[in-house]
Amino acid sequence: MSENTFHTSSIPEIFYSDSTKKPFTHCKVCQKDVIQTGEPYIIEKAYGQDLIKGKRDMIFEVVYCLDCIQEINESLSEESRERISNYFKTHTNLDKRDKELKKYELFEIDIWLNNCIVKNKSIDEVDEFQIYALCIGNELLFHQAPYMVCGEAIEEVMELLSNKSLDILNDLMTDIIDLPPQYRELFKTRTPMIF
Ligand SMILES: [Zn+2]
Repeated sequence: MSENTFHTSSIPEIFYSDSTKKPFTHCKVCQKDVIQTGEPYIIEKAYGQDLIKGKRDMIFEVVYCLDCIQEINESLSEESRERISNYFKTHTNLDKRDKELKKYELFEIDIWLNNCIVKNKSIDEVDEFQIYALCIGNELLFHQAPYMVCGEAIEEVMELLSNKSLDILNDLMTDIIDLPPQYRELFKTRTPMIF
């Protein structure tokens, strides 16, 4: 198999909606039915976990169509966008990871999500993390995504955002996400991150 071939699989349950226990169907921002349109969409889910009790909670889940992602990106300041892009360029190497995983045909979801793409920390040693997947219809695409970003890296990214960009993302979050009360304080400075 060529390294550039798109490998797909049916969407694994970790990327199902925790509220409905079914695969997502609509963009959470514009409500477009992304299954019907057949366009690529991104799933983002955030988790908090108590490592001592071995308890994991889903904090929020969002689906974005590409139009909405573009719109959100464009609403952020150019400086914020540039700083985030440089951060990921400096701290991750998704192309290299992609090639290595594909070379050995490692298409199990756990392998792709097990270590933070920035800090390399394992999913079993972090207090919070977010996972991302790129999907089309009922298929998940293995192309750089899916991946996991730990809370520590998310915090660093949040610090790169201008106050104005943070406000924009916070407003968006208030509109589309209903945070569980016990996580409202911790996650009030967490926003959806799309890169
Ligand atoms: Zn949308």
